[in-house]
Amino acid sequence: MAIAKYLLVVLFMSYYVGGTAFTHTHYFPTYSITHSHPFLPGADGLPHHTHSSTAFNTIQELDDIMLEAAALCFALATAWVLLAVFIQQHKYITPVRLVRNINLRAPPFCIK
Ligand SMILES: [Zn+2]
Repeated sequence: MAIAKYLLVVLFMSYYVGGTAFTHTHYFPTYSITHSHPFLPGADGLPHHTHSSTAFNTIQELDDIMLEAAALCFALATAWVLLAVFIQQHKYITPVRLVRNINLRAPPFCIK
């Protein structure tokens, strides 16, 4: 498990560097596509490589999968927090449960 933290750092750095240093745009007559992957720019700084339409479609599908996975993770995390706050038994004190239970008792009163 100790090596996992270093692998996560390497994964984050590769993602960050890949997204910032290798972003480029491919221009076509009616549209343009911007993406990032390691490449060697030409003398003018533009990418001098091409991708097939299958490669562009694959990149688009992978982007869609990542976006949907992120949305699913957000929805599951939201559902988990709501369930933890409102439905779970009050057996353990956790930070999420404290949101619900801090000083919710009404003050004492007397009706005459
Ligand atoms: Zn490219």
